[in-house]
Amino acid sequence: MVLLKKAELKGDVNWRKNRKMNLILLGAPGSGKGTQALKLSDKYKIPHISTGDIFREAIKKKDALSIKVKQIVEEGGLVPDDIVVEIVLRELEQESNSKGFVLDGFPRTLGQAESLDKSFKKHLEVLYIKLEEEEVIKRLSGRRICKKCGKGYHLIFNHPQKENICDSCSGELYQRKDDEELTIKKRLLFYEKHIGDVLSFYEKQGNLFIVEGNKPIGEVFSLLCKAIKE
Ligand code: ADP
Ligand code: AMP
Repeated sequence: MVLLKKAELKGDVNWRKNRKMNLILLGAPGSGKGTQALKLSDKYKIPHISTGDIFREAIKKKDALSIKVKQIVEEGGLVPDDIVVEIVLRELEQESNSKGFVLDGFPRTLGQAESLDKSFKKHLEVLYIKLEEEEVIKRLSGRRICKKCGKGYHLIFNHPQKENICDSCSGELYQRKDDEELTIKKRLLFYEKHIGDVLSFYEKQGNLFIVEGNKPIGEVFSLLCKAIKE
């Protein structure tokens, strides 16, 4: 990894121990970002920041943010860049003393990536989970979420031990409104429109890692951990 290797060359023998895990997970909706973010958060003891979770929580609480984003999120649109950027920068400020973070669902547009770059000057490691559309649709249509703790499951690939009940907290599982067929299609159109620019942006910076997402959860996780350690 470019910057870390520089530190190593300068003779900073503790660079690996002192490094911050500032991770960004990119990928289509349903590519497994949330699933992997939870595992990375657990392994590296870093907070998981999901913009989607922040919006869903606001909608549940019906707070001021909910008024601005409810319709957009439920219909599969993109929340305006200025709103998302402000939220993410605030979250990152709060986590400035942690060992890093894993950001899931942001940036989704070039504008978001550029705004983050202007305000957050620390090194980022960007991990892109690559998955073809056919698989993404299967994943999203079978996804179920715990109403209580937000943990994600899949009816076929990652099902709970007891039907419709969360393994971790016994909460009831539900299907996200934006995981219905028409909304999935709309979300994928937005994703396809922007992802190329976001990937090019990080590719130019030399901190982009591409990981194959069409493998079992544990294998994708191993690939991500390997990419981080390189
Ligand atoms: P994202 O956060 O990118 O939208 P999720 O992590 O919620 O995606 O995963 C989408 C769905 O696919 C969930 O139902 C999850 O359980 C399932 N899933 C995640 N990773 C895999 C995988 N590697 N193989 C099969 N199913 C997976
Ligand atoms: P996710 O949980 O990542 O699938 O996000 C759910 C929804 O929240 C998206 O379909 C968008 O409506 C909204 N959202 C989440 N992150 C962003 C973002 N970075 N930019 C714009 N909208 C977002």
